[in-house]
Amino acid sequence: MKYQSTRDIHTKITSAQAITQGISPEGGLYVPKELPVITLDDIEGLADMSYTDRACEILSLFLTDFPDDELVNCVNNAYTEEKFESDDITEISRVGENRYFLELWHGPTCAFKDMALQLLPYLLTASAKIVNNNKEICILVATSGDTGKAALEGFKDVDGTRIVVFYPADGVSPMQKRQMTTQAGENVQVCAINGNFDDAQTAVKSIFTDKELGEKLKKGNKMFSSANSINWGRLLPQIVYYVSAYCDLLKDDEIELGDKVNVCVPTGNFGNILAAYYAKKMGVPINMLICASNKNNVLTDFINTGKYDKKREFYTTISPSMDILISSNLERLIFDLYDSSASEVIKLYDSLSKTGEFTVSESVKEKLNNQFYGGCCDDEQTKAAIKEAFEEYGYLMDTHTAVAAKVYEDYKNKTGDNTPVIIASTANPYKFTASVLSAIETPESDDEFEQINELINASGQQPPKQLMKLKNAKQRFNMLIEKDKIKSTVEEMLSL
Ligand SMILES: *Cc1c(COP(=O)(O)O)cnc(C)c1O
Repeated sequence: MKYQSTRDIHTKITSAQAITQGISPEGGLYVPKELPVITLDDIEGLADMSYTDRACEILSLFLTDFPDDELVNCVNNAYTEEKFESDDITEISRVGENRYFLELWHGPTCAFKDMALQLLPYLLTASAKIVNNNKEICILVATSGDTGKAALEGFKDVDGTRIVVFYPADGVSPMQKRQMTTQAGENVQVCAINGNFDDAQTAVKSIFTDKELGEKLKKGNKMFSSANSINWGRLLPQIVYYVSAYCDLLKDDEIELGDKVNVCVPTGNFGNILAAYYAKKMGVPINMLICASNKNNVLTDFINTGKYDKKREFYTTISPSMDILISSNLERLIFDLYDSSASEVIKLYDSLSKTGEFTVSESVKEKLNNQFYGGCCDDEQTKAAIKEAFEEYGYLMDTHTAVAAKVYEDYKNKTGDNTPVIIASTANPYKFTASVLSAIETPESDDEFEQINELINASGQQPPKQLMKLKNAKQRFNMLIEKDKIKSTVEEMLSL
């Protein structure tokens, strides 16, 4: 299988090249030239397999240049019972009629980002070996909170790699911040910026394609790569869990082979929902893709009007991992909806950087609306959704998952569509203790770990051990820089 860039379809590279490079030199994103097909027979076969075996089968369709044993090694090292609580790796909780929460947060950092970022370091080092790369790989990460920690945990002390993470100083939860600033590992660095996620992501993306830095790197026998979902190696593992979730529903007799399901995803950078779109396109019987946003509802407006307009106020919400106005992976969807037209992508993204907006054609909007529904909710509605699921079903959701639950309710009320739905549950509630607790009762203490105790008492659910351990962990990183200093900071940190 070969890969092309969304901004240059004449690119023809292998998956190992796409994964080591992360982003295409002209700024486009790598996508497969053709998507492999999964038939209902395939799904039936996969249903009898373990998560790791399903992953090997699906990944091998895309990573055709990886030796089989290499891929098996990657998968078996990444998805272990030890790291993910059980060898099921993900869990499905049925909450109410036809509503299934796909819990993707049983990994080391308690958010769905682990599903990809536990595997990516293995894919990346295997890719480097395949393409004969002996350069040191420097991973630059912009994070809205969860990617940073998951990437740090995945790449810490991985030979031949270094990782630098930038996060918005005032844009992450206290637990997210604590997770990152206490990170262990000899090859890791963490830095806060005065700015939001979009500032961090834009700066990091431009560093990847900076010619002058590129020269300096070459001299130092180093190269950049990305652990953000602009890297194909980060997106691919996410396709696996949608296929796997369908298999699980089948195996548990919740659905029959071929039955349609809807998928609802709390969305920020458009990576997670794009993986569901690819799973649908490959042949998994998925009907509607429900794109849930918080008050930063740029995607809701886009789906409803066909106009993507980033010129709007940026809000800091209680679902910080979705506080994003420039959703990088939308570029891959646009490319696909325009039947792989790089020139259309270039035109639209030129317009986005020059005027802050673009509008898709009528026919593309129609294709979009046949498959995607967009909805949003604010913090009060998010909290109300947490309270309702908890009181009615005893099910405790984090703030991001709650956005999805609320938008799904709205969708169902509006359309009457009762198709079984898989709602992506993207984080453990204890990552956002203050907001989750205040949704179900008034907190007594301001202290984060006191609030954790309050939430334990209120919910009867235990927090993950790895979060509790952070209480006494030593802070290693306290650097704070202005957003226009990201490039010079990278140069310093990597001694370029
Ligand atoms: C990253 C994240 C999201 C958004 O996912 P995208 O792939 O960026 O759309 C939602 N919820 C949580 C908890 C996250 O960490």
